[in-house]
Amino acid sequence: MVRIDKSKVGIPAILGEGGKGESATQELIQHYEAGKRDFKSTDFASEIYGHKTVKSLLMKVQSKKCCFCERKRPHAREGDVEHFRPKTGFRIKSKSALIKPGYYWLAYDFSNLFYACKVCNQEYKKNFFPIADETLRARSHQGNWMLEEALIIHLEFDNPADHIEFLAEVAKPKAGSFKGKNTIKLVGLNNSELLKERFTLFSVLKILAKEARQGNIEAKKYFKKISRKGHQFSLMVRCNFPDLV
Ligand SMILES: [Zn+2]
Repeated sequence: MVRIDKSKVGIPAILGEGGKGESATQELIQHYEAGKRDFKSTDFASEIYGHKTVKSLLMKVQSKKCCFCERKRPHAREGDVEHFRPKTGFRIKSKSALIKPGYYWLAYDFSNLFYACKVCNQEYKKNFFPIADETLRARSHQGNWMLEEALIIHLEFDNPADHIEFLAEVAKPKAGSFKGKNTIKLVGLNNSELLKERFTLFSVLKILAKEARQGNIEAKKYFKKISRKGHQFSLMVRCNFPDLV
């Protein structure tokens, strides 16, 4: 997991002023004001928030990597546009009841959207969204979600490297970070599939690191390259080989 910076790319036209996202948001607000609370996923237009211009911009910003597991997913069909604050409803604990409505007014808000692989988005992240103080939770478009302190890592406002570290291929909360601990569990950062993929890379790098430390220029160059943000599992590389990156 690495920090994502959307500040330089602007907002896709479909989600900007006068775009389809704006009118769809107004419609959701009208429904809320008319008494609707039970928003379902079918109330949200994936052809708007998941429009190809939105997805491709997110993929560009994220170097075609899943925002959670850092696996490269270079083809748009391999990933989803994920809502950081869940749109239909949220759970305070991973297995507690779904509370509705969710953050319906942020369904088409670019700042709430990220590119995630299908496994992370559909099997893990789901609707779990704990915050530090429930009395500050924004329960409608009239609330201020910026007052909330999420108890999971925000991919843009937090730096994941402050909360998660890797010992070999295993993700651990850094300095006992509660956000780190929650996030590792929430997105399944240590699921067997991911552990296996990271272990494969880590095993090769361990051998290569010996070469690099003995002065092999090509090996040294390789470490510089693969520890960059755009590379798969870059946080794992940086945590395990700090002297070479
Ligand atoms: Zn993923």
